[in-house]
Amino acid sequence: MKDQPALHAAAQAGPVIPVFVYDEERGGDHAYGAASKWWLHHSLESFGRSLGKRRAKLVLRKGDAPQVLAAIAAQTGAAAIHAMRHYEPWWKEAEDELRDALGDECELCLYDGNYLLPPGSVTTNSGDPYKIYTPFSKAMLDRMPPRDPLPEPETIHSPDDWPDSDDLEDWDLLPTKPDWAGGIRDFWEVGEDAAHDRLDWWAGEVEKYDDGRNLPSVDHTSRLSSHLHWGEISPATVWHRLKDKRSDGWKTFAKEVIWRDYTQNVIDQFPDYPRESYRDYDERTLWRNPKAGHLIAEDLECWQRGMTGYPVVDAGMRQLWKTGWMHNRVRMICASFLVKHLLIDWRYGERWYWDCLVDADYGNNGVNWQWISGTGVDSNMFSRIMAPLTQSEKFDAGDYIREYVPELADMDDYCIHDPPDDRRGDYPVKMIAHKEARERALEAYRASKD
Ligand code: FAD
Repeated sequence: MKDQPALHAAAQAGPVIPVFVYDEERGGDHAYGAASKWWLHHSLESFGRSLGKRRAKLVLRKGDAPQVLAAIAAQTGAAAIHAMRHYEPWWKEAEDELRDALGDECELCLYDGNYLLPPGSVTTNSGDPYKIYTPFSKAMLDRMPPRDPLPEPETIHSPDDWPDSDDLEDWDLLPTKPDWAGGIRDFWEVGEDAAHDRLDWWAGEVEKYDDGRNLPSVDHTSRLSSHLHWGEISPATVWHRLKDKRSDGWKTFAKEVIWRDYTQNVIDQFPDYPRESYRDYDERTLWRNPKAGHLIAEDLECWQRGMTGYPVVDAGMRQLWKTGWMHNRVRMICASFLVKHLLIDWRYGERWYWDCLVDADYGNNGVNWQWISGTGVDSNMFSRIMAPLTQSEKFDAGDYIREYVPELADMDDYCIHDPPDDRRGDYPVKMIAHKEARERALEAYRASKD
């Protein structure tokens, strides 16, 4: 309820009917993933409870969002719909459809606030939006801090009559047969209060970020990504809570939060970015296609299940499966392994992360995948191939591996990153040797540019 410009404006305008429409079709190939549904269920539950304490309700409806909202507006005689603006192409389309459906009877008022600054508003001297992160980041820093966060609305007046609401349980957002969400439940507290508690904790930790953010075993990161993605806390709130810290940790952290704004600027300019490569490679030559043969499909499955034989990759993929989240350094190592070591099209990885991450975000996921695979407008060179074993050692991933790969729990420090074949027990041998994978990737890259 804090720093929610749409709710704030609605509360000032008159009685409010808070509505959430579960539109499961609209995202198409980016409809809510399984882990996102889990988070969404708990987030709505928590929001409904907070509204209940203010004697308000959360009206839940399932269906096509513009049609459902227009119908509620017509039924209740609402003068306006206040909502946060979104940048995913399907939500932009929904906003246009809703405006048309409402006609002159009811006004659609859209608000910014999910990002530090509205995507598209920070431009080069010639007035174009930025494509490259570094100049974008400098321009953003010049315009910081963001606006002050808004308080919770003082009062939320209820309407005389409440429209009907669905029962959240009937939406089947939670897995039941089987219930695979035990690890996710243990790892997360969902909702606005949890987000603010997390930020309070992080205010005492942020100074360690510069040194600790790349070390998955200690993991000095904020774990705020899901709260930010689901609107449980605003980036302006995060910025203002931390901005007086003078540490290098805060300065580095601020640039990561700006990355989040950057990715939305990219999808605002290139709405299909999480689906299309933006470099001139012959992708038919570059990628091994899992649909073209069962061995390639099995390679993809080994990666998804954390059975590649590279301990740090497997720890990451199993952390993702178990908790719905993965440490950023390891997200990069695992993504690079799929596209460079296995030469599998980045879109297969993007979809897997999309389904498994509780923070799955169209912009952040797509832009980071293209950055790793060397196919985007601002990306790493394809020929820069991360060496997973060196990364594991350099970033001291031993305890992280012990936690998520129990087969290796007793392995000594000196061999945990690359156990000898005769000490692996049930743990698989490497799918492909690093040198061989590297040469194969570079050869495919050369061929794709001929
Ligand atoms: P912190 O390190 O504490 O960073 C603070 C905040 O900054 C994060 O919460 C996040 O909102 C933002 N941020 C940090 N790094 C990035 C980044 N590289 N790009 C954009 N924003 C960033 N992040 C998502 O939120 N959703 C995704 O779907 C997603 N997919 C990714 C896919 C790949 C292949 C890679 C390499 C990264 C992806 N990230 C994604 C970015 C990053 O890994 C996560 O934001 C971060 O790990 C979340 O943990 P945290 O909150 O502890 O981050």
